[in-house]
Amino acid sequence: MLMIPGPTPVPEQALLALARAPIGHRSGDFSKVFADVTAKLQWLHQTQHEVLILTASGTGAMEAGIINFLRRGDRVLVGENGKFGERWGDVCDAYGLQTERVKAPWGHPLDPEVFRERLTADSAKTIKAVIITHSETSTGVLNDLVTINRYVQDHGTALIMVDAVTSMGATSVPMDEWGLDVVASGSQKGYMIPPGLGFVAVGPRAWEAYKTSDLPRYYLDLGKARKDGAKNTTPFTTSVNMVMALQASLSMMQREGLASIFARHHRQQQATRAAVTAMGLGLLAGDHCASPSITAVLPPAGVDAEKVRSHLKKHFDIVVAGGQDQLSGKIFRLGHLGFVADRDILAALAALEATLQQLGHAFPAGAGISAAIAQLGQA
Ligand SMILES: *Cc1c(COP(=O)(O)O)cnc(C)c1O
Repeated sequence: MLMIPGPTPVPEQALLALARAPIGHRSGDFSKVFADVTAKLQWLHQTQHEVLILTASGTGAMEAGIINFLRRGDRVLVGENGKFGERWGDVCDAYGLQTERVKAPWGHPLDPEVFRERLTADSAKTIKAVIITHSETSTGVLNDLVTINRYVQDHGTALIMVDAVTSMGATSVPMDEWGLDVVASGSQKGYMIPPGLGFVAVGPRAWEAYKTSDLPRYYLDLGKARKDGAKNTTPFTTSVNMVMALQASLSMMQREGLASIFARHHRQQQATRAAVTAMGLGLLAGDHCASPSITAVLPPAGVDAEKVRSHLKKHFDIVVAGGQDQLSGKIFRLGHLGFVADRDILAALAALEATLQQLGHAFPAGAGISAAIAQLGQA
């Protein structure tokens, strides 16, 4: 049982699509699937603009988003309060951009006021993009994209580029309403299918910048993907079966409805947070900045985070994620993203409760599960 923030559990409907014999990627049958999937992706992104499908992981989608709309030496602000924010700074460096990192300590949200100061001071309009990780998976922090984006819109020139890998499909990211220029995500997270596809949604201001962009690219040239996408095909052989699995998973999502999907993630986030608190554990991210899809937990004094993980795996066959880099050994992370039912949350939290008891951490028996039930019952 995977309770990590990707790969996430995959429903049978998607698995069956993966088991089928592939069809030709240039066939009329596949074009029909591709057109349907594209329309469904626009529904999920709440956009009229292109959502391009890349045969790449989430990093490839984000790299494509960065390198198609900027010029060599462009000044960019990159929010960095965890592992993924760091990665986008590294990508910008690799392509010779003038990268300015706006940092916050891991476990804390980015401060929108720092972005406001930099953007309002930039009367010469030298800042070409602001790059934000919406849900920072390494810490379970949801950054305040709404406020940061408002300052970007006030600036008028800079593009807003968003890593929505663990927020898309978990909380509302209305691309058109917010005026987001680039939104990247990956198949193994909220999409409920295995790793292998990346998605980049691109707005009109970004396509305008594409015309003058001069960074090197070939496979990840989004202009090619856009041109072929308009004909319901892709520049290169796409992962045909993954696209068919995506059709199955997006159909399930449409049946559930956006409001219900977001409410389910919120309810499970609340249940998880209430349960771990009742068990005497700490939360890395505060209530005001909690990710809808991932909860980073601080073990009690004297209990090793890695021991909790290995016990959960060995005795309950439940996989939770560990801490990365500076948080290695200090936290464990519970994923509640994608194809996760309330039943799964109760099972994982009960197993966590048993684990803590077996590792000698004392707390009122049943406290965590009672707190979770109370939250789940509020729906
Ligand atoms: C998983 C993830 C990615 C993408 O990672 P890949 O391994 O390239 O798929 C990017 N950003 C965030 C916030 C993620 O959680």
